[in-house]
Amino acid sequence: MRQSQMFIPTLRETPQDAESLSHRLMLKAGMIKQMASGIYTYLPITKLVLNNIEQIVREEMNRIGGVEIHMPVLHPKELWEESGRWEAYGSELMRMNDRHDREFALGPTHEEMIVALLRDELKSYKKLPLTLFQIQTKFRDELRPRYGLLRGREFIMKDAYSFHTNDESLTETYEDMYDSYSRIFKRVGLNYRAVEADSGAIGGSHTHEFMALADIGEDTIAYTEESDYAANIEKAECQPVEKSTDEMKEMSKVETPGVTSCQSLADHLDIPLGETTKTMVIKINGEFIMILVRGDQELNDVKVKAFFNAEEEIEFATEEEIMQNFNATPGSLGPVGTDIPVYLDFQVDAMVNYPTGANETNQHFINVNHNRDFEVRGTGDFRFINEGEMAIDGSGRVKFMKGIEVGQVFKLGTKYSESMGLNVLDENGRSVPVMMGCYGVGVSRTLSAIVESHHDERGIIWPKSVTPFDVHIVTANNKDETILNTAEELYETLQKEHKVLYDDRKERAGVKFADSDLIGLPYRIVVGRGAKDGMVEIKKRTDEKSVDVNIADVLSFIA
Ligand code: ATP
Ligand code: MG
Ligand code: MG
Ligand code: MG
Repeated sequence: MRQSQMFIPTLRETPQDAESLSHRLMLKAGMIKQMASGIYTYLPITKLVLNNIEQIVREEMNRIGGVEIHMPVLHPKELWEESGRWEAYGSELMRMNDRHDREFALGPTHEEMIVALLRDELKSYKKLPLTLFQIQTKFRDELRPRYGLLRGREFIMKDAYSFHTNDESLTETYEDMYDSYSRIFKRVGLNYRAVEADSGAIGGSHTHEFMALADIGEDTIAYTEESDYAANIEKAECQPVEKSTDEMKEMSKVETPGVTSCQSLADHLDIPLGETTKTMVIKINGEFIMILVRGDQELNDVKVKAFFNAEEEIEFATEEEIMQNFNATPGSLGPVGTDIPVYLDFQVDAMVNYPTGANETNQHFINVNHNRDFEVRGTGDFRFINEGEMAIDGSGRVKFMKGIEVGQVFKLGTKYSESMGLNVLDENGRSVPVMMGCYGVGVSRTLSAIVESHHDERGIIWPKSVTPFDVHIVTANNKDETILNTAEELYETLQKEHKVLYDDRKERAGVKFADSDLIGLPYRIVVGRGAKDGMVEIKKRTDEKSVDVNIADVLSFIA
């Protein structure tokens, strides 16, 4: 491809309003253009990389017997009413009316659609197991779209659905998917970790998330170095171990003193009402507890999920029960004067549709007063589980790292087939609900995650597996005939074996080099003064120095 014919609107300045590295780099490298909040045009470089990621996903889906289909984006409301999710999905579901005032959802995920498809087409167990997948644009009206393609409102997902007559078959496909995802994320060059996850609002019994390790990640992974255990903190089950306040401080990075009320807590922790969950470790009565604080749009309030170092998981329904468990009187948890360090530890993103059915009667309050006021006021469920100073499975101290959820695999069971009537006749001629699994890869998010971890101060460094082009030919000077002819010839030759981007623009060499670094192709060939002696300069994107190579040897050099 000739760069003069491409559309790569690179920026010289670093965009100020982009909060994540990948977002900044992708804007600078002319890869995306925001059209509305969380809604982007994918420019040519992005499109090429997405194609490569999609190709890898396709290959790995096909390899385990997944068959590609393409379902509609517009979902009739009736189907979502059958599953109960027209209500339950809440404001993240984008909705619209047609000219006859019929209501539709813009698909955020396709369980309803695929169940509706199969309940008409599938009669006998003999067709099972079956795995169908699609790669498609999804719509979610995220409360806080951000970080470029990491959290969009319109994004590309690969979603797969599997169908089975029994649990063994479901487990088999689940494990195939798990392996398939492991291969996908390895192939695209991500440093990832598969973690146990909370099945949350979507239901189902068994689920893993695939996390690309990155500081910008909105999820927190609890893991230990002593074992291979790793879980999303929303799921992690920890037991208390002894740890000093200093160690705790060490572990939890940021101190946040002077938090006074639920609202200021929310403000302080930068919790947007409605979506994000933050986790804090606080010390009350000498006990460390970890709480998840979640903004709640409807109630204009924050929700609190607390982890307490109790023997077993306890569901608290009333304020009194909490007070009892804390051995405190209402309104004053922890004796006046107790040192109550408040550590902002990390942040975890909310699950889809955290239930919002709270009302006045199940409001809970945790108040801690001493010279420093601390109040957490929450609504909804309090969940206290063994937390505090944490260990997992007796296998060592828990550590935390941040991850970007790039994929998730789910055993759904019969949730959707029961509510929507997807049954088949089994071997004995009995009608049984079909067991399902669902499996998502955030394709556009994966692209951002790759950029997040493959770059230097000058720009992106594409892994070979997804790079938009293999080689960048750059002319140092467009007025010199020898240079131009050499570059043209090289372009012709290299194209036979490689994907080549040829910077034939009449720009200054400095501009071209800066753009080339930003775009980040694995090899750069500069055709300059050496051309008259049959030499070009080749530099790997990861190397500092270029080497002079005879034109005849270029092909073997970059092979
Ligand atoms: P998150 O917790 O980040 O909101 P999710 O758990 O709601 O994600 P899933 O329903 O599991 O997402 O969807 C499957 C995959 O789609 C996710 O693992 C993620 O990679 C991707 N994804 C979800 N929401 C978005 C989004 N708003 N923008 C880009 N990718 C997304
Ligand atoms: Mg999630
Ligand atoms: Mg979500
Ligand atoms: Mg998920």
